Amino acid sequence: MDFTLTLLGTGTSHGVPMIGCDCPVCHSTDPRDRHLRAAAWVHTDDTSVLIDVGPDLREQVIRQHVMRVDAVFLTHTHADHLHGIDDLRGFTRLCRQALPLYARKHDTDFIRNHFDYIFNDHDFKHGWFIPRIELRDLDGQDLIRVGALPIQPIPLVHGHGHAMGYRIGNVAYLTDCSAIPESSYPLLQGLDAMVIDGLRWTPHYTHLCFEQAIAEAKRLQVPKTYLTHLTHDIAYAENQAKLPPGVFLAYDGLDITGTL
Ligand SMILES: [Zn+2]
Ligand SMILES: [Zn+2]
Ligand SMILES: [Zn+2]
Repeated sequence: MDFTLTLLGTGTSHGVPMIGCDCPVCHSTDPRDRHLRAAAWVHTDDTSVLIDVGPDLREQVIRQHVMRVDAVFLTHTHADHLHGIDDLRGFTRLCRQALPLYARKHDTDFIRNHFDYIFNDHDFKHGWFIPRIELRDLDGQDLIRVGALPIQPIPLVHGHGHAMGYRIGNVAYLTDCSAIPESSYPLLQGLDAMVIDGLRWTPHYTHLCFEQAIAEAKRLQVPKTYLTHLTHDIAYAENQAKLPPGVFLAYDGLDITGTL
């Protein structure tokens, strides 16, 4: 069975163009140089799952015509991946149902504390005007099934902290990582496509840079690798030409077809 992973956003935390920047990439007219904050939509005809709910969520789901969501999977709680959580009310208002949001226990605790208005409305005073979310803890590497989609959490290192990557069938989505722990490699065998944090050419403490991401693609022998979480240092046309075969710059709206 086929599914599609649509890249809703492929930019670093600032997005590209960046506020107050006059550089050539921030002024580029190439649509592949415009990056909303990193997020993905995994979907079949019957099942629809969001990975991350950053500050650009509203624009992303309207642009891609996402009409319903069955579950949300969070990579981690950095603002560029979480701060659109309130817009999930658009979906819960329509379907009159709470939406499961899966994340590491550390992250569900964080969400409960930082967005307490969502979880403290015990008498339903605000009705469907606030998002109705059911937090579910991811426990290590347990596979989660949502409708037709088996979703495999992939623990990642992200600077001093952690992030969760996800594998669906033969495709992996690994944004925001500075390293892949040894224990996660067995979960990443036999991929046909991988979206991985690449950021830019120069190294960064909490993200893989291009060379490191390309080395991971080589180690995992992935035929097609897409570099995401891109900064305004990366002009598409000029930099795509410098990448080895099988490695591509990600851009917003890119569809990757996978098989379960
Ligand atoms: Zn990020
Ligand atoms: Zn710029
Ligand atoms: Zn992050």
